[in-house]
Amino acid sequence: MPVSPDDATLMDVQQGGRCFFCGEPVGAKATFDHLIPLAYGGIDEPSNVVLAHRRCNQRKGDRLPDAGELDRFFAARRGSRLGVWPPLRALRAAEEGQEWIAVARAISQEK
Ligand SMILES: [Zn+2]
Repeated sequence: MPVSPDDATLMDVQQGGRCFFCGEPVGAKATFDHLIPLAYGGIDEPSNVVLAHRRCNQRKGDRLPDAGELDRFFAARRGSRLGVWPPLRALRAAEEGQEWIAVARAISQEK
C-alpha cells in the first residue's frame, strides 16, 4: 500500500518534522524518498519511505542508503507500525561491496 496521509503524519512526527537527510525542518513541503530506489525494485510503501526536502531527495538520487542513514531509519522505526522493509535489513547486514547483490537477492525473495 502506498503511503497514506496517516502514514505521512506519523512519519513526520517520528522525524520531528525534519528532513531525513539534512535534518532541517521540512514541513508540508516534504517529498517521499524511497530508501531503496524504485528504479532498483524498491517498493512504494511506508516501510521503504522517509520524508525529505525535494532537493535532498533529488541529491540522493538512485544510490542506496549508507550505514548512518540505515541506523537512523532502524532507530526511528523500532516498534513503529510503519515497519522496515526486509531488503533494508539485508542491506544493513551486507558485507562491504556486496550491498547491491544483497538487496537484489532480498527483493527477489519478496516477490
Ligand atoms: Zn533536506
